[in-house]
Amino acid sequence: MSLPQGIDLKAVEDAIASRNWLPRFSPKLEALFERDTGGQRCRELLIRAYIGIIIYDLFAIADWWATPELFSTALWVRLVFFTPLALTLTTVLYTSPPVFLRESIMCIGGGGLATVTILYLMAKSLPAPQATLHQSMILVVLFLTVVQRIRFLYLAPTCLAFLVLHAFSLERYYGYSVGQQVAINMVFGGSVIFALIASYSMERDLRLHYLLSLRGRIQNRELDMISRRDALTGLGNRRSLEETLELCERSIDVPDEFSIVLLDIDHFKMFNDTAGHQAGDICLKRVAGIIQAELRGHADHAFRFGGEEFMVVFPKTAFSRAIAIAERMREAIEHAAIPHPALEPGLVVTASFGVACARRGYEVRAADIVANADAALYAAKRNGRNQVWPRFVSVDGDLGSLRSSGAG
Ligand code: GH3
Ligand code: MG
Ligand code: MG
Repeated sequence: MSLPQGIDLKAVEDAIASRNWLPRFSPKLEALFERDTGGQRCRELLIRAYIGIIIYDLFAIADWWATPELFSTALWVRLVFFTPLALTLTTVLYTSPPVFLRESIMCIGGGGLATVTILYLMAKSLPAPQATLHQSMILVVLFLTVVQRIRFLYLAPTCLAFLVLHAFSLERYYGYSVGQQVAINMVFGGSVIFALIASYSMERDLRLHYLLSLRGRIQNRELDMISRRDALTGLGNRRSLEETLELCERSIDVPDEFSIVLLDIDHFKMFNDTAGHQAGDICLKRVAGIIQAELRGHADHAFRFGGEEFMVVFPKTAFSRAIAIAERMREAIEHAAIPHPALEPGLVVTASFGVACARRGYEVRAADIVANADAALYAAKRNGRNQVWPRFVSVDGDLGSLRSSGAG
């Protein structure tokens, strides 16, 4: 799960604690909410829209029994006008449209279109339209609120328009007295208010539920990251090294090489014994920082292999390149000039490096590559420390010109 910049545990906890009365997040959180839930919402809207269209068309049965003289017109309105138009509008949902388009289409297609056809049938059945026609507007509100769960900010203005249209239809098409109109409008108005309250609460619950699950996801991710970090140096630990090596091993069938560098601080026991464990820890952190600074972007990974040993994994990196990077790291550690308290004055902390590489068609098991790097490191130690093994070869291609590295 990748999170956009600015969305972290604090931002989510602030959103949970906020008393924002509008069911809406900050723009960044809103975009993430849509990214995480938009696809599923489109699928749900589609299925429910189909159910809505079927129910709407089934009202032809009511037309047949209640207004047989209007049946053919009603059938035409339902099957030839409303159904194809509504089906066409719902196809937009297949394109995962932006939230504005998605919710508006549901309001216009599901609500507006149905209401317009109801008004048309009222006009057609003058002078005595059925009461069921204006009553069915409640069903439209119910469909948008409870079934489609239209976002509150889109539902509220739509319901307001329904209130106006409902009052207009009573006044225009029915012979009700003013008193009757007021009473019927109040029933419809009450239904709309209840529906809006329900919509508001449901959306707040939905959003709170989303924030809680997002918080859980972020916390899990942070715990996961902590469980893969070495507490002292901040580099990856053995567990995450094993996983990275396994990944490299599995991807070796692509025509790439992967290289590893194993490095070990020279004479570190003496450092510890002389300066103390705490000073030793500070030294380990500094060396880890130097290694980290020499990595190239996200592709390379550095790990604490154990004690004063570190391993760097370079996916898709040729042997010669890894040797060159190891040499750069060796120089950087030496140039950091961390005084070594147990050696002669002026001598500094250094490290020895063993480099190994896996190539297609050659060694591919991670364990073999690590063993090779270990053997190379042993050779570097035996050969005088503070050097990279195999020894660094200059980039001019002259294999014979070994670049000198300081002896430990
Ligand atoms: P060489 O040059 O051959 O590598 O010699 P060395 O003294 O560095 O190697 P050795 O394996 O004998 O000593 C490693 C020391 O690293 C022993 C231990 O005191 C120290 N060490 C291991 N882990 C830690 C740690 O977490 N903190 C500190 N301060 N020291 C550690
Ligand atoms: Mg060691
Ligand atoms: Mg050592």
